[in-house]
Amino acid sequence: MRIVLIGPPGAGKGTQCQRLLEYLDVPHLSTGEMLRQAVSGGTREGQQAASYMESGQLVPDELIVGMVSQRLMRPDCRAGCLLDGFPRTLRQAATLDEFLERQAMTLDGVIELAVPRDELVRRMLLRKREDDDPEIFSKRIESYQRQTAPLLDYYARQGKLKSIDGLGSAEEIFSRVCEAVEGFVARHDEPEDDSA
Ligand code: ADP
Repeated sequence: MRIVLIGPPGAGKGTQCQRLLEYLDVPHLSTGEMLRQAVSGGTREGQQAASYMESGQLVPDELIVGMVSQRLMRPDCRAGCLLDGFPRTLRQAATLDEFLERQAMTLDGVIELAVPRDELVRRMLLRKREDDDPEIFSKRIESYQRQTAPLLDYYARQGKLKSIDGLGSAEEIFSRVCEAVEGFVARHDEPEDDSA
C-alpha cells in the first residue's frame, strides 16, 4: 500500500502514523524527520532548510522533491510506504504523481485527518512543547491552510481522498483510519472498468 497522510499541525498525525505503520508494515517516509536529520547532520540540504523550518515556513519544493524521490527509489519502498508530511504543496503533489507514473507505481489513497483550527490551538496551548511557540505555530497553521489544504481538492478530484474526523480518542481515530485503508483496498480489488 502506498498511502499519504495529511493533516494540519497538531492534528495527531504522529500518533496515527505510528499505529498505521505497524498495521501496514511499510516504511515510513517522513519529510520532517528526513529534514531534521539533514539539519543535525549539517548536510548542504540541511543548511538550506534550517531557517525555513525554524520560522514555520515550508522549505522550497526543489529541495524536498529530490530527497523524496531518492527515498522512493530504495528497494524497501517498492511494495509501498506511508508518506507523512509530503506532499505539502500542489507542486509537490504533481511532481509526485509524475514520478510515480514513471516508476509504474500508484498511490492507493490519501487520508486527511480533519481537525478544526480552534481545537488545534487549544491542543497546542495544552501540550506546550518547546517547539510550539504560539506565533510559529500560527505560521505553520497558516502555511497549511494556504499551501497544503488545496491538495485535498486535488486528491478528491482523483477520487483518492478519504477525510476522517480527527476528534476523539486515539483508538477511535485509528479505527477510522483503518476503515479508510480498507476502503482503498476494496477499491483496489474492484475489476477495472474497461467497458468504455
Ligand atoms: P510537523 O511538525 O508539522 O509535523 P514536520 O515534522 O512534518 O512538521 O516538518 C517540520 C518542518 O519541515 C516543516 O515545518 C517544514 O518547514 C519542513 N517540511 C517538512 N516536510 C516538508 C515538505 N513536504 N515541504 C516543505 N517543507 C517541509
